[in-house]
Amino acid sequence: MLAAFSYVGFQRQNCAVGEDVENLKQRLPLLDYLRQQSWTARPIAFGPEFVGLCPLHPETRPSFYVNARKNLFYCHGCGQGGDLIRFVQLSRQLSFRQSVAYLQQQSTVPTDSLAVLEQAAIFYQQQLERHPEALRYLQQRGLRDPALSKELRIGYAPGGSLRRHLTAQGYSFDLLQRLGLLNPQGCDAFYRRVIFPCCQGGRIVNLYGRGIAAAFAHQFLPGSKGGLFAWESVRQFPTVILVEGLFDLVVLWQAGFRHTTCSLGTHLNAEQFQQLCDRPRIVYLTFDVDANGSGQQASQQLAQRLRAQGISTRRVILPDGHDPNSFFVQGGDARQFHALLEVASS
Ligand SMILES: [Zn+2]
Repeated sequence: MLAAFSYVGFQRQNCAVGEDVENLKQRLPLLDYLRQQSWTARPIAFGPEFVGLCPLHPETRPSFYVNARKNLFYCHGCGQGGDLIRFVQLSRQLSFRQSVAYLQQQSTVPTDSLAVLEQAAIFYQQQLERHPEALRYLQQRGLRDPALSKELRIGYAPGGSLRRHLTAQGYSFDLLQRLGLLNPQGCDAFYRRVIFPCCQGGRIVNLYGRGIAAAFAHQFLPGSKGGLFAWESVRQFPTVILVEGLFDLVVLWQAGFRHTTCSLGTHLNAEQFQQLCDRPRIVYLTFDVDANGSGQQASQQLAQRLRAQGISTRRVILPDGHDPNSFFVQGGDARQFHALLEVASS
């Protein structure tokens, strides 16, 4: 459908503004911007194109196309098209210059945030070695391979030291608080937690903290949890194992099941769902078998939604009361897990 339409006419319509605008558009890709504005879309086949409802005119059938590689959009309904700046002009009714200024403002915060999250992750990683209680916890959860710990950039937040470290590096108290690294009282938000950086496109988009004492719940920084965990390395596999917890992923990777990804909870956000659907594949749903049945219920619903998108699913049934982590920690091995995959039914 799109082959007939050429995006070329919309490119570089404002050459005079030059480099800054090109940099801006690279720093804040059109698709990312649209998703930040809650635009939902589905990918078209395996290409770089996405289609969804037009944010510029009312419609019930999607005719708004985005080419992520060319960084351009076109709507077959209202005939509007162009780049990120053009989209902002139309959607916010701003002039070209106002749009550039608006976007510059939008994109400075994320750039700063990325740097801070990176520094926080490095700091937490350094703390891991210094805190035997954290290493002990990792061992209890079945993580035995130090190389895997490094690869996943697992760290530890002892609490009470990140603020000093980052403000000494020149990051403002304000920014740290806005990102949720500090709580409203100004103290480190992560306290006695094992930290997993959640990455996307090689950048850290969030931090997941898991308390090492049973009383502590899970914790993210405010904002999106991002896409599926380690999706860049998993997406190449025609068969994918989906788990709900990062310690499930850890033991499975350790046992050689590198085609395992994690949704960080049983509820997939729109982006995670789209990722699973980005090509034909078989998804093994391996959620917890908990007493109240919530894991299995979520797994059933997800299987239905995936099948509606043409994705094959298999539900892996673990022994009662188990999640993949406890299965391995309590003596299960790769061969036994493999047998569970073999008998998983669609
Ligand atoms: Zn339109």
